[in-house]
Amino acid sequence: MDRRRWLRLTAGALAGGLAAGCASVAGRRRWEDTFAGIRPARISPERVIRVDVGLRPYRSEGFVVRAESFAGKLLVHNYGHGGGGVTLSWGTADMAADLVTGGGRVGRGREGDVAVIGAGAVGLATARLLQRRGRTVTIYARDLPPDTTSNIAGAQWSPTSVADSLHGPFGVQFEDASRRAHRHFQTLVGPDYGVRWIDNYFLSERPPGIPGYMARIRDLYPELEDLEGDEHPFPTRFARRVVTMFIEPPRYLRALMRDFRVAGGRVVVGEIADRGQLAGLAEPVIVNCTGLGARDLFGDDGVVPVKGQLVVLRPQPELDYLTIGGGRFSRGGSQYMFPRADGVLLGGTFNRGEETLQPNARQTDRILEVHGALFDAMARKVG
Ligand SMILES: Cc1cc2nc3c(=O)[nH]c(=O)nc-3n(C[C@H](O)[C@H](O)[C@H](O)COP(=O)(O)OP(=O)(O)OC[C@H]3O[C@@H](n4cnc5c(N)ncnc54)[C@H](O)[C@@H]3O)c2cc1C
Repeated sequence: MDRRRWLRLTAGALAGGLAAGCASVAGRRRWEDTFAGIRPARISPERVIRVDVGLRPYRSEGFVVRAESFAGKLLVHNYGHGGGGVTLSWGTADMAADLVTGGGRVGRGREGDVAVIGAGAVGLATARLLQRRGRTVTIYARDLPPDTTSNIAGAQWSPTSVADSLHGPFGVQFEDASRRAHRHFQTLVGPDYGVRWIDNYFLSERPPGIPGYMARIRDLYPELEDLEGDEHPFPTRFARRVVTMFIEPPRYLRALMRDFRVAGGRVVVGEIADRGQLAGLAEPVIVNCTGLGARDLFGDDGVVPVKGQLVVLRPQPELDYLTIGGGRFSRGGSQYMFPRADGVLLGGTFNRGEETLQPNARQTDRILEVHGALFDAMARKVG
């Protein structure tokens, strides 16, 4: 048990012991001592304001960041971030920018203006970093915020569901991107960008292990502690508390678009139909940040859509924590609750290969049911 938790439990036990005339010290180690004020989410079909669907650009082998020559230009790829594209955006953007500018190495990289293809989280971070390195950048994009997949994201800072395996060389790249991204995002914390630190609770019935994506970057999840039974306010046996950053994509992406334009960036809206059109661009450097679009534009069949559906409830401003998982309440599936300014997001679907933006009514019902069961039980526990 770490020192801080020991102090908390001891303080709670002492306070409780005094209040109860020391009747039962063990019985006083309860969530009220430290989590008073944490309220359940209010789940009901009447509170639903919309259902969102997005297609994660998933590659089982992980994202691609690499350079090649193309029609006399330097072409740098930066796509395929799966379920962690907002999280990783500044990290892989930094790696892609290194490939453009040579990362300080003489004779590498390429001089000149840059065309960034794509205006999601990945394209915007890449464009901004290149501007900060002194380049003139034009974004070419079919969709701008608020119409990108990045606008649908949760977005918890966590490089989750990024590849089938994090062993081997990709694991090293993954760790590098995660660490760079974590540093960059900290410079954006505050209301202007809609980025803040928040408590996360991973709920389970079994003692939680350390998942693969977290193992390499355990230090990026500060204050991790495992609470059991009455030490936490949730109706599951275990709750792992950990602190992450949390990004509100509508505000965040709007702020990045603003920064890009203020720094002199130009935006050209329209689809790049094929590589011939790409070759005709005036810029000698191109960075491909097209997400799922890379499959058609560059023929990478390794990129597959993974459909995610979110049921969004009207905002509940008193909620200031995330839940991930739901123990027995999840009924073998997954679930999460992210409270944003524009609504309380309920999610947990991950349908590989499903390429439709049509909401699935059965999934909507299930998402509402599992969250309803979880938070009703929490309301009974916290009173
Ligand atoms: C339900 C859900 C929840 C998620 N939650 C999280 C989360 O909590 N945390 C997290 O980090 N991530 C999360 N994600 C994943 C995240 O949304 C993606 O990884 C991320 O949005 C990918 O960003 P991107 O910039 O690569 O792609 P996009 O946002 O899709 O942007 C791609 C850009 O390229 C443009 N484009 C594509 N093809 C062309 C073309 N041929 N010509 C011109 N332009 C083109 C598009 O118009 C767009 O501007 C979630 C995703 C979903 C669906």
